[in-house]
Amino acid sequence: MSTAVALPMVLAEVTVSAVERLSPSFVRLVLAGEGLADIGVDGPWWDQRFKLVVPTEDGVLTSVEDADETWLGTWADRPVEERGHMRTYTVRSVLGTGADTRVVVDVVVHPGASGPGGDWAAAAVVGSRAVALLPRRGVPFGGIEFTNPPGADLLLVGDESAVPAVCAVLEQLPDDATGAAFLEVPVAEDIQAVRRPPGVALTWLARGVRAHGEALHEAVLAHLGAGAPAPEIAVDEVDPDLWETPTWSSSGEPLEPASGGAYPQLHAWIAGESAMVTGLRRHLVRELGVDRSQVAFMGYWRRGVAMRS
Ligand SMILES: Cc1cc2nc3c(=O)[nH]c(=O)nc-3n(C[C@H](O)[C@H](O)[C@H](O)COP(=O)(O)OP(=O)(O)OC[C@H]3O[C@@H](n4cnc5c(N)ncnc54)[C@H](O)[C@@H]3O)c2cc1C
Repeated sequence: MSTAVALPMVLAEVTVSAVERLSPSFVRLVLAGEGLADIGVDGPWWDQRFKLVVPTEDGVLTSVEDADETWLGTWADRPVEERGHMRTYTVRSVLGTGADTRVVVDVVVHPGASGPGGDWAAAAVVGSRAVALLPRRGVPFGGIEFTNPPGADLLLVGDESAVPAVCAVLEQLPDDATGAAFLEVPVAEDIQAVRRPPGVALTWLARGVRAHGEALHEAVLAHLGAGAPAPEIAVDEVDPDLWETPTWSSSGEPLEPASGGAYPQLHAWIAGESAMVTGLRRHLVRELGVDRSQVAFMGYWRRGVAMRS
């Protein structure tokens, strides 16, 4: 019996079984490993996040041998040259079953400001190893923020870091879902073909030389019938831990029951660089009167700041 079986999540060493350079900014990795046989969620995977621990610069991979429930709590206390780096990614899809279960992850390669997660993915080859922390079938895990309430007018918004999540959600939506999705990517070559319900419009925006999130901000406001330009967000106004969902607030704001707001059917999910998300949040909630309980706003990364651990 593998040691991971005792844990409430699957903590398993995984091996890259396929690498595909999707486009200039994305690399797709297929992760395989015996422990993945036990992963699973109750319902769609939607935007399920998971942790990946990548090896140190010297190639040392953290050990999950004999891991028990204290593993996660004590991992960060170990010297970085032993433990490597933990990063958050999205389950793009799950392939196969049983011992052949594989997890697909699309990683943004960001050469200008590199970090251990992006660097590892960019250099990954078949056989590269990492450690994954994923939901165990039958055990509540959390990490899914998307919901699809009946009758929702969906609004999905993301930069490249949220492209995997939005594409995964679009592919899993029922055929009768309605709404719109807006995705901003660095260059036009990053635009992907994605299956989606006919009633959900998908707009890709290639950033080019524009500021990060500017095109996205404009397009979302136009979609909501508001034409104002994107407000400048000062660096000290950006909430680095921005994570506001209908059921959780990183700022401790009271969670009020839905009042209908200015867009009663709207159900929005917005993720990406923190300044971009902070700006959109301000506009939607403060200026357009969108009810906070109808939106999940999530800072996936912050310009100039490495993820903790
Ligand atoms: C719930 C959740 C799901 C996510 N899913 C995915 C996913 O499926 N695929 C994915 O690629 N990312 C995803 N991210 C974002 C990813 O975790 C961050 O981008 C992370 O910082 C990458 O780690 P790193 O080691 O490459 O860079 P870090 O060491 O964290 O940062 C190093 C430098 O790179 C910059 N940087 C970090 N990310 C980016 C970026 N995307 N573009 C440009 N510069 C960047 C930082 O600002 C910093 O200056 C997700 C984040 C969350 C919270």
